[in-house]
Amino acid sequence: MVDFTPDCKNCAALCCLALAIDKGEAFSFDKPAGTACAHLLPNHRCNIHAELSARGCDGCVQYSCEGAGQRVVHELFSGQSWQDEPALKLPMIEAFHILRLVHKYLVLLDLAKGLELDAAQARARLEFRARLDPAEGWQLESLQAFARAGFVGEIEAFFKGLKSTAQSWRNRQE
Ligand code: SF4
Ligand code: SF4
Repeated sequence: MVDFTPDCKNCAALCCLALAIDKGEAFSFDKPAGTACAHLLPNHRCNIHAELSARGCDGCVQYSCEGAGQRVVHELFSGQSWQDEPALKLPMIEAFHILRLVHKYLVLLDLAKGLELDAAQARARLEFRARLDPAEGWQLESLQAFARAGFVGEIEAFFKGLKSTAQSWRNRQE
């Protein structure tokens, strides 16, 4: 069972490293992708955590990796951190980008269960779900191979096909 709740205490602040931040309504500063945030402490904690909103960083408060961060650290990197081992920085960033996409699609596939899918769509939904949540779990190599296989195009096409289903389902609810 995939846990979609971020467990930041058991992560290595991957979002604070991997993601780009654009100054604006939700963030009071810019940060390039792949560069540790200036507020990040060596123990993965944020030095303005208690005052994020007051400091104009609601985006940090609202962000969710859908539970991908702690999985990358513990399932793919055996609890290691890029802060202790800088050579892990790039592979951890890459794995985080892939797994958070995997988790995003799993969340959407679970939501799609509530739609009135026809038999082919229901079958495809289950097949995608099984591919995104393999029984043997993810290893770094299998995750990288999966990303190279181009699943994004396939699954986006599936969701595009569901749009009209979702629209007619919504219309019937109104
Ligand atoms: S990547 Fe996810 S689990 Fe890790 S610190 Fe960010 S939100 Fe929390
Ligand atoms: S401000 Fe804190 S929570 Fe936001 S990206 Fe920087 S370290 Fe992470």
